[in-house]
Parts: sequence; C-alpha cells; structure tokens
Amino acid sequence: MWRDKLDTSVTEKVISLAKKRGFYWQAYEIYGGVGGFYTLGPLGTRLKDNIIRVWRKIFLEPYEFIEIESPTIAPYIVFEASGHVGSFKDAMAECLKCGNKYRADHLLEEKGVKVSEATSLEILEKLLNEKNVSCPDCGSVSWKVSSFLTMFQTNIGPYKENVGFLRPETAQGMFVEFKQLYEINRARMPFGVAQIGKAYRNEISPRQGLIRLREFSQMELELFFDPLNDKCPYLDDVKDIRMNILDEEKVRNGDTLPHNVNAKEAVERGFVREEWLAFMMALSQKFLCTLGIRPEFQRFKAKLEGERAHYSAQTFDHEVLTGKFGWIEVAGHAYRQDYDLKSHSIKSRSSMEVVEELAQPIKVKKKLAYVDPSKVKRDFGDKSSEIFKLISSMKPFELAELLEKDGTIIANDIVIGKEYFIFKEVEETISTRKYIPHVIEPSFGIERIIHAVLEHSYNEKEDRVILSLKEEIAPYRYAVFPLVKRDGLDAKAKEIYLMLKIRGLSVIYDDDGSIGRRYARADEIGVCKAITVDYQTLEDNTVTVRDRDSWQQKRIAINTLL
Ligand code: AMP
Repeated sequence: MWRDKLDTSVTEKVISLAKKRGFYWQAYEIYGGVGGFYTLGPLGTRLKDNIIRVWRKIFLEPYEFIEIESPTIAPYIVFEASGHVGSFKDAMAECLKCGNKYRADHLLEEKGVKVSEATSLEILEKLLNEKNVSCPDCGSVSWKVSSFLTMFQTNIGPYKENVGFLRPETAQGMFVEFKQLYEINRARMPFGVAQIGKAYRNEISPRQGLIRLREFSQMELELFFDPLNDKCPYLDDVKDIRMNILDEEKVRNGDTLPHNVNAKEAVERGFVREEWLAFMMALSQKFLCTLGIRPEFQRFKAKLEGERAHYSAQTFDHEVLTGKFGWIEVAGHAYRQDYDLKSHSIKSRSSMEVVEELAQPIKVKKKLAYVDPSKVKRDFGDKSSEIFKLISSMKPFELAELLEKDGTIIANDIVIGKEYFIFKEVEETISTRKYIPHVIEPSFGIERIIHAVLEHSYNEKEDRVILSLKEEIAPYRYAVFPLVKRDGLDAKAKEIYLMLKIRGLSVIYDDDGSIGRRYARADEIGVCKAITVDYQTLEDNTVTVRDRDSWQQKRIAINTLL
C-alpha cells in the first residue's frame, strides 16, 4: 500500500480532502479567511486527540513524567526574563511601493537565494534589492527590511501599561512553576514536566496551510537533569531505533546524506551533546513511526550557531518529507541548558536551585563580591542609596556570579561595572550541593503533525482515495453498515454499532446510499474496518469485515468482533 516516494500533488489532494471531509479548513471563510488561523473539524479533532494519546503513551507514561496546564497569557516580565521580548523576532521585508509585508528569508528562498536565520537585516535588505526580488502583490523590486516581534501583545485588565503576551511556546509556564513542580514531584531528579496546549505566534505572512499558523497546539516536555550527572538510563531501550541525523558538520558542509545511528552511537560519535537529547530524538522517531510515517521520510537536522533560538546550546529539527512543502520541521529538540531557570531566578529573585545531599562533605572555593561604597558615592552621588538598596538584597556570592557572567549589574537603569566591587575568595566545607538543573526539550507542533500524517497516509487505488491511518490514530476504527436499510438489517446493524460503542470503541453507523459508496466514504476518512450486516447475519449471527487497505472481506461471528 505504501508509495515509495511522495509526489508533490499529494499536498493539494490532502488539503482538499481535509476540507471536504472535515479534518480542517481555513477559519473565518465567510469573512474571506484570515491567514494563519484554521479550524479543526469533527475528524480533525478526533485525529488530534488520538495523536495526543499516543504522545502521552510514548513520552510520559513509561517514565512517570508529569503534565500541567498553565495560562496561555503571561505578564511582560515573564517574556522579558525568558529573552523572548529581545529575541523572538523575524526579519520583515516591506515593499516600498504597495506596503505589503513578508518574511524576508522566505522571499529570498522563493527566488532560490539561500539565507540562514543568522543573516543580518542589512544583508537581507541588500540581497532583496540586488537580486531584484519582486513583490508577490505589486511586482515592485524595492524593499526595506526591519525586525518584527512575533508575539501577540495584549493588556491585562483595563490598564494600558499592564502589558501581557499570548505565549509563543508552552515552555515558560513550566519554567516559572519549576520550584513548585519540583516539590510536588518529591524533589526527585531527573524529572520531566509536559504541557499540551495552544501557542500563538504573529507570523508575518503565513501562506502554507497548517504548516505556518498564528495559533497552533504544542506538546512540549521539559526534562530537568543534573549537568554533572547527565546519564540517561533508558538508552538501551531505544537501541533499535536508527535515526537519520544531519549533524552540525554535515549541515555546515551542505552534505545531505545523513548518518544512520542509534541514540548511543549519536552521543559516542559526538553528533548529539547530551544523552537525554539523543534519547528524546529516538522517542520522537518512534512516535512518528507509530503515527505511520516511515523512518526513511524522517530526519534530524542540526541548527547551526546563530540559527538556534537564544536559549539553545544544541538543536535538532525533526523533519518529515512532504510533497509540496519539502522537508518540514514537526518537532524541535533543544538543549536549553539552565538558560530559562537562571533567567527567571535572576529576574524574580527566587531561587530555582535544587539541593543534593552529598555522600561526603567536600571543600569548595567560592568567590564573593562586596560593593566599594566610597567609589560608588564618588561616581554616582545621589543615586548611591538606590544602588546600595539593590545590592543589599543580593548575597555576595550571587553578586560575584552575576558580575563574572555579565561584567555589570543594572539597578534601575544605572549600570555598575566590576570596578565598583571588591572580590574575595573563600574556602567552604559543604555537605550539600546546590545547582540549577539543565533542560532538554522536545517540542512538537500538533497541526504540522496532522498534515504530515495525512500526507503519509494518503493513497489512491482504482481512482479511489484510501486514508491508511494507523489504528491508533484513525478517527474511527469501525464502521457498521446494513447491506440494505430494511428487513431488520438496519436494526441488527444498529444493535452491533451500540454494542461496540458501549465497549468504548470508536465506531460510526452509516446506512445512506449504496454499500459501495459507503465503503468508499469510509476509506476516504480512514475507517480501519467496515462491518456489514446482510441477510445471512439474521440466520447465523455472522457479519462480513472488510479491511480498508486490502479491501479483503472475511466472514466472522458477531461475538468474535471484540
Ligand atoms: P519552535 O519552538 O519554533 O522549535 O517550535 C516547536 C514546534 O512548534 C515546531 O517544530 C512546529 O511543529 C511547531 N510550530 C512552530 N511554529 C509554528 C507555526 N507558526 N505554525 C504551526 N506550527 C508551528
């Protein structure tokens, strides 16, 4: 049943089938539609629920990772601390004639000019103008490029100054609650916290259906671990999963032939920095295979420095090959280090450290920093008391750490450099060790997965469409049909339908139109088995069961259906 490669026409066919049969379609169509907003229909919502169920089964249940649901709106300070206010931006090209706006990199890519996410605004603008890239709307070739913050901004309550953002990722909800979650989870390390829910990104000009949305759903997992004890105990469990990996070196050299390795080899050969990261990538491949996407249509592509998000020390995009859109990223696997917890800890002045009891007390050297009051008074005059107030709220070792890292401390917009501090080194005996955990994050976009799964399940046979969705995710596992709608066949069919439904199976009943048309309709929406009640059923309590993919029929007793 499987095709060997995807032809580009499959994408359009899936989009039109999705609309016709109720998987998904563009929202607000009666008002002309709004780019980047889609509605999932009755079949789409069932498919989504099933995908989420499989994800939980693979990523959460075996490891007892926990799940939360945090608000989708957060105050400004959360995204200021996380670095999103400063960095969550895209390069926007504005047509100087008609004023329409596009993603600068997308315009260049459509013209065959490859740029990376690290390319500066100046170079993007130069390239657009020099390569005569024409505006898709008016054809003009003069451009201005600026950066655009892609978070949706709102106000919390009636106060204009109370700015908030719709979250662009679910992750921050888990980081800001880390301490509470750590306690609830009885202070065990390592541990995982997941969140499934909506994320919002004000994409500049989304034109790729479910691939680029302004409102979409994510399944994210934050795996917190000790950086000094970073072994993942589950690598052997995934040893048979071989992944196609384009590591940083291959990406840099433009080499598209991937390494084919398991998680352990990926770490040993230096492609993946952390065992937990390699483990999550292997689970990710297992997950997509369970959804029906074969491994040869999947790959993990490293992001180079400069292309990665501001928090990441290593990132692999989990990509799936599609017809018209080519390789698309359905999940990002990032090593976020302690970036987020540390940033929130500094901004909120609440500790995000966990405590480990040491087997033996140890001696450690510690740097302490003390402010030099005479220098501060000399150079800052009236503002000195403000500075002393801020500094007195911080411990000497915190000050030393911050100054080491940033070189300065900022108090109410006043920048105080290292030279205003006196540093001391002391030796301490400690019986506990405190550290901020590091984080590995697999982050999935559900709508992209829905689109990829539909493309990879789409088949045609004798001019008919078959959606070969795996049983685990098919919106309906069974359809029950009476051969004809009379002579008691319909009553018997309804009885069987109810029996299956009561047992918790996903099943539909259909008695509308010829049996051939009903089979065709069921194939098109991916129903796995069609059960038909005919005259023989009334005599011997048997039914025919037709397989969606092979179209083969078997006669079996009703009581063996379950
Ligand atoms: P990112 O944080 O950008 O790595 O995003 C994580 C995942 O969210 C991606 O792998 C996508 O599956 C999904 N995603 C990100 N942006 C969008 C978007 N604009 N529309 C739909 N899905 C998205």
